Amino acid sequence: MNRALCSCFKGFFLRQYWSEVTHSFQNCYTRAKVHALSPKKLAPGLRQLAEGMLALVYPPRCSVCLKSVQTFSCRFLCENCLSRVLHAEIPPVRYWQNSGDFDLARRHGLCDLAAWYYEDALMALVPRMKYQDRPSLARVFAEIAAQRLREMMAAVLTEAAKDSPSPPVLIPVPLHPRRQRERGYNQSLLIARALSEMWNIELLPQALRRTRFTQPQVKLNADERAQNVSEVFAPHHAEKIAGRTVLLVDDVITTGATVSACAQALHQAGAAGVIAVALARTGSAFHVKG
Ligand SMILES: [Zn+2]
Repeated sequence: MNRALCSCFKGFFLRQYWSEVTHSFQNCYTRAKVHALSPKKLAPGLRQLAEGMLALVYPPRCSVCLKSVQTFSCRFLCENCLSRVLHAEIPPVRYWQNSGDFDLARRHGLCDLAAWYYEDALMALVPRMKYQDRPSLARVFAEIAAQRLREMMAAVLTEAAKDSPSPPVLIPVPLHPRRQRERGYNQSLLIARALSEMWNIELLPQALRRTRFTQPQVKLNADERAQNVSEVFAPHHAEKIAGRTVLLVDDVITTGATVSACAQALHQAGAAGVIAVALARTGSAFHVKG
């Protein structure tokens, strides 16, 4: 009886995850052909393959509710939590839509577009994406965010184009090289790259840089955050920024201190306008500086 149950379970999970394993294998094979067996380039594919094989034996659990994930529509979320993410309310465009005056928002130097409020499932998933070596989550959420924000983004860019005929550009909030070495990737760059592909907007991955190493914002209050990132950012390619509307990409906007500090540097480089784009933002109001 036990043996029959066991094989029944195995059969079920094999069906669920076999497609993931074959997909990972194809991914590895393609990478091997393109990159000639470079270990560095192959590593993500091999890791995905190993995860798929492991999933055959130990099915992954939902990052939010910890139940077993039964389908691969999203590996980290069960159907129920995925549906909550897909149908969550979209935060309004702050300042622009609230005041009905895009020029006013632009004079403040910032608008902010976010696909979600930073609560519920996102509060469980974003830290996992940033701190638990899950860069693939950035891609998953950026693709969903790109679809959720598409109309809002088009409306904002139509307004921005009246003053700046040059095409807009996507620029990620940079990490300090030391932090990037520790983490292995910059999640904002991964999000910006996916948005660039989905929206067909040019990406300038290194247009901003951090001039000094700062402590993480997460444990600081609003004033300390602003102080922590004050004059930290500097433009790297001012000539590519001048006269253009910059879509400044961050993972989460909380107090707005980081995007605000970035916006100052971008304005110094001659950006026509700065619009912050994030996966999520907190519901509480923040004050835009500069
Ligand atoms: Zn769940």
